Amino acid sequence: MPEFDLVVRNAQATTASDSFLCDIAVRGGRIVQLGLDLAPGAREIDAAGRAVTPGGVDAHCHLDQPMEGPARMADDFATGTRSAACGGTTTVIPFAAQMKGQSLRAAVEDYHRRAEGKAHVDYAFHLIVSDPTPKVLKEELPALIREGYTSFKIYMTYDDLKLDDGQILDVLDVAREHGAMAMVHAENADCIEWLTKRLEASGRTAPRYHAHARPMLVEREATHRAIALSQLVDVPILVVHVSGKEAVEQIRWARGLGLKVFAETCPQYLFLTAEDLGTDDSYGGARCVCSPPPRDRANQEVIWDGLADGLFTVFSSDHAPFNFDDPAGKKPGGEEVPFQHIPNGIPGLETRMALLWSEGVLAGRITPQKFVELTATNPAKAYGLHPRKGTIAVGADADLVIWDERETVIRNAMLHHAVDYTPYEGMRLAAWPGMTLARGEVVWDGSRFSGKAGAGRFLPCGAPSLLPKKRG
Ligand SMILES: [Zn+2]
Repeated sequence: MPEFDLVVRNAQATTASDSFLCDIAVRGGRIVQLGLDLAPGAREIDAAGRAVTPGGVDAHCHLDQPMEGPARMADDFATGTRSAACGGTTTVIPFAAQMKGQSLRAAVEDYHRRAEGKAHVDYAFHLIVSDPTPKVLKEELPALIREGYTSFKIYMTYDDLKLDDGQILDVLDVAREHGAMAMVHAENADCIEWLTKRLEASGRTAPRYHAHARPMLVEREATHRAIALSQLVDVPILVVHVSGKEAVEQIRWARGLGLKVFAETCPQYLFLTAEDLGTDDSYGGARCVCSPPPRDRANQEVIWDGLADGLFTVFSSDHAPFNFDDPAGKKPGGEEVPFQHIPNGIPGLETRMALLWSEGVLAGRITPQKFVELTATNPAKAYGLHPRKGTIAVGADADLVIWDERETVIRNAMLHHAVDYTPYEGMRLAAWPGMTLARGEVVWDGSRFSGKAGAGRFLPCGAPSLLPKKRG
């Protein structure tokens, strides 16, 4: 009997702190030894000195999230996690979203039914709190935090989701008392509504005006307000999908004061600009309608700097999958509609890791260790999944990516999501995941998906571990 189920040989194993050549031995889905010249495994994979990183933890993605009709997400847990696996992501944290009037508990139970038997990789849930009633604040949320739902998203915009400042304070207070991580979508809803009405009244309704309705200052103001609210309650927050300079400046300012403000950004703020929403009134730009909208080249550079210098804590996809040519997608009811009625979001689960490895690490903008920190270790820590997830260490799950430095031109036809486009069509990358292992099983071998529906397990989350623990 071989001593191990699997040994990955000659791996340039890369963690958030180190990079070293070793063999990685796996038993029962976990890493049990790291070393040189390890005993044989039942299966052997030769990494041949290639970089091996922890499987990605995509801590911001939307899968099969209940929506108000006619919109419907193109990806469910089956296609979304298949796509994740083929792109080197082995843990996803989508959102169990409470509808106004609904109990949070009911939202979680419904979401479990959507995931069960379908997921190909492991998953945890964030909560979306859209209706913080006394029952939600006093009973449901504390109980759910204890059961392993230790993070939730708060929206400052979108009519069906947004909370006012008093409600945000109430929810942040629960996060403080029970040790949860609050994620905040920071855009000023009233400014957006005011601008949208003016654009509409003047007939400017093409997709590109989405960016005009959500200029940087609406994000800057809301980011500042979110920071102030978290300061008042004395609780850390994580500002999601930061898009450019003015929001970055607010976060740097808060850090300078010693406030615990974490930040996330996404590929769309590195690789897309507002021009991708269209330079004329054609409808194709609806594909890239997401919020906050992509900005410009100068803002992309600010985001790159923030990734390199530690301003950003996590790098997520914000995968929000809607077909372009679909009455349930970007053409509601089959029509080309004014920008404010286009479902918000772009797909990105499968391309997130390769975009950052190629254009970040191989292009010399960030170190391989920083890549691991942003795509796996920090998201696992922020949401209570570390050290089981997000690192290469003895005792961790054997979630691994072996990188192939081969030129890859992104084509939607080669991706495994159920969306009919990718915003990165035609982009040339210098690398792609050559193999993905999820708890020691090969789910992607560089050309073929081999995961099993239902193999992905639900992961209850512990307390966030980005900060030192207080005594008592
Ligand atoms: Zn958001």
